[in-house]
Amino acid sequence: MDLTFLGTGAGNYRGGHRQPSSVLLDRILLDCGAGATGRLHDAGLFDRVDAVVLTHLHTDHLAGLFDFLLHTIIQQRKRPLSILTPPGLSPILKAMNEVRATVIDPAEMYPLRIIEAPRPEATVGPWTIQSLPLDHTVYNVGYLLTSDSVRVFYTGDTREPSAAEGLRTDLLIHEATFADRYADRAHEFGHSTASQAGRVAARMGARRLFVTHLASLPDTESEVLREVRAAFPDSEVAEDRGHYSL
Ligand SMILES: [Zn+2]
Ligand SMILES: [Zn+2]
Repeated sequence: MDLTFLGTGAGNYRGGHRQPSSVLLDRILLDCGAGATGRLHDAGLFDRVDAVVLTHLHTDHLAGLFDFLLHTIIQQRKRPLSILTPPGLSPILKAMNEVRATVIDPAEMYPLRIIEAPRPEATVGPWTIQSLPLDHTVYNVGYLLTSDSVRVFYTGDTREPSAAEGLRTDLLIHEATFADRYADRAHEFGHSTASQAGRVAARMGARRLFVTHLASLPDTESEVLREVRAAFPDSEVAEDRGHYSL
């Protein structure tokens, strides 16, 4: 399994150190924040993507989709593309096509399969993708990706208590927008702290945890790293362009 973090920032990102959220798991793009397409090109991975999987429609997880679709047209894509999304994406894509935002409707170029449902699910290559609603300020689903040998859970944005705790996973990719001292703010805005993410990893029986979606706030990075490892030692704070072969 190859994991490439394209963007590991939250909506309040500043500059290119942590762009908004997007991570490529093998051929599956989990969320598509602004800048994801450029990062995919930089890594030579743009043409690898078979599915874009959206947790929710906040712009820090969605805005890169429009650029991504434009580049599928520029690259003259012929292979099918699946998009998994909670309800709400279709009217946005329809409005974009009405103003020819990507010049050509991608669905006229290649088979575009949009799986839009409260709990979207699909099979992509060796991966079975299932979803579970998690608590955020808008409807957000976390995704469980299962292959023959491993289970991966990706949260998108969520606050505690996490409905994912009832599941088991080998690898957890969990948001940790805030250090623990911002716990009240995390709860107010539907996010998690570092320690909360670590505790969820322990309850899910994870072997390894990556935290992502860090806010651009003073001292957040060092605090999140210290706090998440105190709660769950086998933790990493994901960095933009971070690549792991697991
Ligand atoms: Zn977000
Ligand atoms: Zn959000």
